Order: sequence, then structure tokens, then C-alpha cells
Amino acid sequence: MKWNSIVVKLGTSILLLVLAILFPLGFVVNQLFSEFYFNKVQEQVDEASDRYANSINSLDEQQLEMFELLASVTEQEIVIVDEQGTVVANSGIPSLPKGGSIRSDELDELEKKLVIQSEYYDDIDNSRYLRTGKPIYSESQLIGGIFVLASVEDLYQSLGLIKRSITLAGIGAVFLALGFTYILSRKLSNPLLEMEKATRKIATGDLNTRVSSGSNDEIGSLATAVNDLAVELHRYRSNRREFLANISHELQTPITYLEGYANALENNLYQSEEEKKQYLQIIQLEASRMSKLVRDLFELAKMEEGKIALVFEEVDLVEVVENALLKTRMKAQAKEIQVEFNQSYDLPSIDADGVRMEQVLINLIENAIRYTENGQVKIQLTSFSDTIKVMVEDTGIGIPPEHIPFLFERFYRVEKSRSREFGGTGLGLAIVKQLVELQGGTITVNSKVGKGTCFELEFPVAKGEAL
Ligand code: ADP
Repeated sequence: MKWNSIVVKLGTSILLLVLAILFPLGFVVNQLFSEFYFNKVQEQVDEASDRYANSINSLDEQQLEMFELLASVTEQEIVIVDEQGTVVANSGIPSLPKGGSIRSDELDELEKKLVIQSEYYDDIDNSRYLRTGKPIYSESQLIGGIFVLASVEDLYQSLGLIKRSITLAGIGAVFLALGFTYILSRKLSNPLLEMEKATRKIATGDLNTRVSSGSNDEIGSLATAVNDLAVELHRYRSNRREFLANISHELQTPITYLEGYANALENNLYQSEEEKKQYLQIIQLEASRMSKLVRDLFELAKMEEGKIALVFEEVDLVEVVENALLKTRMKAQAKEIQVEFNQSYDLPSIDADGVRMEQVLINLIENAIRYTENGQVKIQLTSFSDTIKVMVEDTGIGIPPEHIPFLFERFYRVEKSRSREFGGTGLGLAIVKQLVELQGGTITVNSKVGKGTCFELEFPVAKGEAL
């Protein structure tokens, strides 16, 4: 076990806490008990000494015997001294026999008419007493003194017992706390250690590792988070592998063309100037396809990381569609495709980035033109209470239903060779989806093979413009 482990830290804290409570508590209990009992005995002794001192008026034999007798039926002892401090009566204190003397300072105090209150230790029977000494007067004349003593030996023993009980209870509580801490910490640290092992395994690449997330507390949710992280890493890794495979494949095709035609030119493998020009055109086309691919990839990566800065403003979609149509007109004309725009007036504006919105529409219109032969492309804007719908519809080749769920994935193409023939990179729709979602919209697609395809975009209208 490490010194900085949870078990040790928690154990030390609980132990310190228990000690911090037990020590002062034990001290206070001990003080309260002893003060209470000692005060009580002291009071009794004071009271008895008062009573006795007031009732003695001479130190004659008979009176002294009577007081000795009186003391023997109580739990207190008495010692009476004459005016010289010589003991003349003693009911049972071995160290003060009759004829013996009290200390001179005590006699001085009696002579000064002072009350003596102190603890007295009898070194013959090894007992401790609380005592009160008072002067005795006869007609205002000091004739001696009386000491009343009560044994506190039993009291000391009881207090000792209490102290020992408190100490034992303290030790018991400490052990209990330590045992409890140990069990609790094990319960806490075992799953954490398991998680540490699992995350280390995940870090070394074993992404199928999972942690058992038994409890439904914080540790359980940490385990779930670790598992989610492993799943996410797994997905990320296979995405990356697939992505790299796709890129190298996509780059390989134009590079093969470039190499082949550059080689043919270098070795004069052409029949005419016309053919040479054709080769050069192919090289140019493939080079520009490669640069578009790299540009698109870079842009998509930026979008996926959320690093693309959109400039949001109130955008009029009619204007955006008109601009997109202007820019795609040449391509439509080249394929003799008629593009229709059902313009509806008084449309509310949306909060979007105008330039990016145009990019989205150009992409969809170009696709519609690209995958349509001898047909028609229609663009329609419809407004609802708080959204605007944009539809880009064509009467082209359509998309088989099994391809629809993957259409917006990077590099996904329905017919690889055909798409390439049309000049596509397979990144267009992935970029469109990202841009639409970054602007708060949604994109869906409906298609029928041989009949045509319709892409539908929906955006919330700008704040304050909802109908
Ligand atoms: P590309 O650059 O290959 O066009 P996109 O991401 O834009 O890549 O499109 C992905 C695939 O979806 C295309 O390869 C094509 O097969 C299909 N597609 C996209 N738009 C249409 C459409 N209007 N009609 C038919 N198929 C389409």
C-alpha cells in the first residue's frame, strides 16, 4: 500500500478527527465528574466542621469522647487540637495520634481565626482526605481547633475507573474507525485501481477493454465515462483508418493519370500536336481535381473541428438562390438543362452566413445538373410559421434507397466511376451537411431511381421575423 493512497489519506483524516473529538471530550467529562464529586464532599465537610465548631465550648474529656463517638457513626473523621496545636481527640486518622501536633503554619492560621481547606494525605494508611479546619472559641476565646476529614480514596478510584473506561472507549472507537475506513477505502479504491489498469490498457491501444460499471454512484458514472471514451476512441481510430485509405485512394487516381500522361509527353508518345494538347489538358484537369480535393478536405476538417468562422447576418434566401443560379448557369446551359426557380415573395429572412449558404446551394444545383440528362432542375422556397424550406429537385438518374443513409458521408459515392466521370470528389454533400447544420438547419433527401432526386433544407426564420 502506498503512503499517498486513498486508504491512508482517508484513514489518517478519520483517525485525527476521532482523536480531536475524543481527547477534549474525555478531558471535559473527567473534569466535570471530579469537580462535581469533590465539591460535594467539600461542602459536606465544610458544613460538618461548622456544626461541630459551633457546638464545642470546652475541651473536656467527656465532650471530646462524645465527638469521637459522633464521628464514628458518620462517614467523616474528626481531629480536635488544643490551643497549642496538640491533638486531643481523633476518631480515626492514624497519622495524627493523640498527643501529636499539627503543623505550626496550620496552628498560625487557626490563631488568625482562618478556615483551613485542603487535601490531606495520610502516609500511614496511604489515604487521601478532604478536610476543613476551624478554630473553636469559648466565650470569644480561642481554645483550639477542629478538623473534619472525609476520605476521597473511593472517589479517586471511581475517577480512575471512569478515566480508564473513557480511554478504552477511545481506543475502541479508534480501531472501529480504522476498520471502517479500511473497508470503505477498499471499496472506493478497488474500482479506481481497476479503472486505472483499464485506461492504461486503452492507452496502449487495447480499445476493446471495458470497465465493469457496477454501482450507480460517481464511481459508476466515471466507469461509464471511461467506457464511452474507449468506444469513442475506437470509432475515431477506425474513422481515421478509413479516412486515410480513402484519401490515398482518391489521390492515387489523379496521380496515376499525371504520371502516365507526363511520361507519354516526355517520351514523345503522341501522334500529333492535337494529341499532345489533349494530354496536356488531361494533366491540367487532374491537377485541378487534386487541388479541389485537397481544398475540400481541408475545409471539411475545419468544419468538423468547429474551427470555421461563420459570419451570421440576416440573409434573404431569394437573393442567395438567384446568385447561385447565375454561377451555375453555364453548366446548365452546357447540358441544355432548364433550371426553374419558383420564386415566392415576402419571405422572411434567416440568420445565416450568406456566402456559405450560396456555397450550399451551388453544390446542390451543380449535383442536380451533374446527375441529370435531358431533364429539368427546379428550386422552390416555401415559408412556414417559423421555418423556411428550400427544395432542389431534379429529374435525373436518382439514387437507389440503400445508398441514401450514407450519402452525406465523406467520399461516399453511389457509382464511383460515374461520379468521377462527372468530376465529383465525394466530399460535396458532406460539406453541405456540415454547413447546413452549422447554420442551424437540417437536410433530407428523397429520391427515386430513374425519376429524380429532391434535397430539402429547412432553416428557422430570423428572430423577430416569425409569422
Ligand atoms: P460528388 O462530388 O461525387 O458529387 P457528393 O458528395 O456531392 O459527391 O455526392 C455524393 C454522391 O451522391 C454522388 O457521388 C452521387 O452518386 C450522389 N448524388 C448527389 N447528388 C445527386 C443527385 N442530384 N442525383 C443523383 N445522385 C446524386
